[in-house]
Amino acid sequence: MKSVLASALALALATPAAAQDAVTVIHAGTLIADPARAPLRGATVVVRGKTIESVQSGFVDVPGARVVDLRSATVMPGLIDSHVHLNGNPDDRLQARLQASSRDHEDYAFTALIQARRTLLAGFTTVRDLGNDPRLIFSLRDSINAGELAGPTIVAAGRGIAISGGHHDQRTGRNRDLTAMAYKQDINNTCDGADDCRRAVREQVALGADVIKFAASGGVLSNVAAGLAQQMMPDEMKAIVDTARMFNRRVASHAHGVDGVNAALRAGVDSVEHGTFTNDESFRLYRQTGAWYVPTLLAPAAALADGQRGALTPAQFEKARAAAGNAEKSFARAIREGVKIAFGTDTSVSPHGRNAEEFALMVRNGMQPAAAIKSATIDAATLLGLESRAGSIAPGKDADIIAVDGDPFANIRELESVDFVMKHGRVHKLAGKRQLTEVD
Ligand SMILES: [Zn+2]
Repeated sequence: MKSVLASALALALATPAAAQDAVTVIHAGTLIADPARAPLRGATVVVRGKTIESVQSGFVDVPGARVVDLRSATVMPGLIDSHVHLNGNPDDRLQARLQASSRDHEDYAFTALIQARRTLLAGFTTVRDLGNDPRLIFSLRDSINAGELAGPTIVAAGRGIAISGGHHDQRTGRNRDLTAMAYKQDINNTCDGADDCRRAVREQVALGADVIKFAASGGVLSNVAAGLAQQMMPDEMKAIVDTARMFNRRVASHAHGVDGVNAALRAGVDSVEHGTFTNDESFRLYRQTGAWYVPTLLAPAAALADGQRGALTPAQFEKARAAAGNAEKSFARAIREGVKIAFGTDTSVSPHGRNAEEFALMVRNGMQPAAAIKSATIDAATLLGLESRAGSIAPGKDADIIAVDGDPFANIRELESVDFVMKHGRVHKLAGKRQLTEVD
């Protein structure tokens, strides 16, 4: 009786929603359905509501369905950026610095929404935010996921965990009053000693973190003249990883210096972010642990350019110079060594909405275009734990679909001008024109 009642209730609840599920049919000239395989020529994707219903060969029509004609385009899964910070205004770092004392939480929140939309309209339907104001980013994530605001799906870390004086320590290089404010306003994301690092992980999880980020080494844009070498102790990293595992959270480690990269890999992280300096041992550890490498080649290039036009402090500029010369060398070797690579840009160091410029840097340094596309779709989805929902165009997956009017295999820069964007079945860009769609 109970089960009959339950199924009657389920039917009653399901029927109105199903009735609203509009059907969209996409006719694709070229379809990259599974980025690990060869593309299909002349295919149809049927989308019902938020979900991909079927992929069929040829141009098939469904009675009553909306038809999106992309017969002269390449249709592919929505792109995924594994490393962004949806805040700040890197379009002009000098200007941002001047404005810092007058901007408040609300200003940053609206900026984050604008940056999220630029990202979505650039074809990135999913991003992982690896360091931000926790309240801001979790609120934005939840509003987008609820369909209240248009934006990419966000997997968020909250604040990155840092040692005192390390990268992500909000107090570094600030005056006394701002340091005091940073202490007061933030949940404490710094930790010193293994026990304290367990606490720091738990606090980010308590606030709503999907993933844990920590800094194993110095960072370019933290205002501390302490280089890019390892700064966190192995027992602190191990405590972070072990604690995150208990909450079923994955761990991403920022690491530039080779000792930091290798220590993070030994601690068992899921991904190394930047991975700027490497040696034989790094590649042995990548293979042994199966960890992902998220190269973020755009970031050192953008930081160096900022330094050259006087937008960085001396401490930052010195580190930018050190990183810029080595990031692409480590990337080129990682291709030859067969390391697992997930697409990530560290956008916020470079301008939002231009994430796809990373592809050209990857291809220029030895990656095949097909592999670069795979890194930003199914591979990034796997790193983010979203492989059942995103990363390919297959029945049952979220309808996150984009298109470009050229051939990205012949010219990877086609991905820098995406002409069509659908996320969860909603069209946000058509024929290159934005048409952001929010709640029905
Ligand atoms: Zn970052």
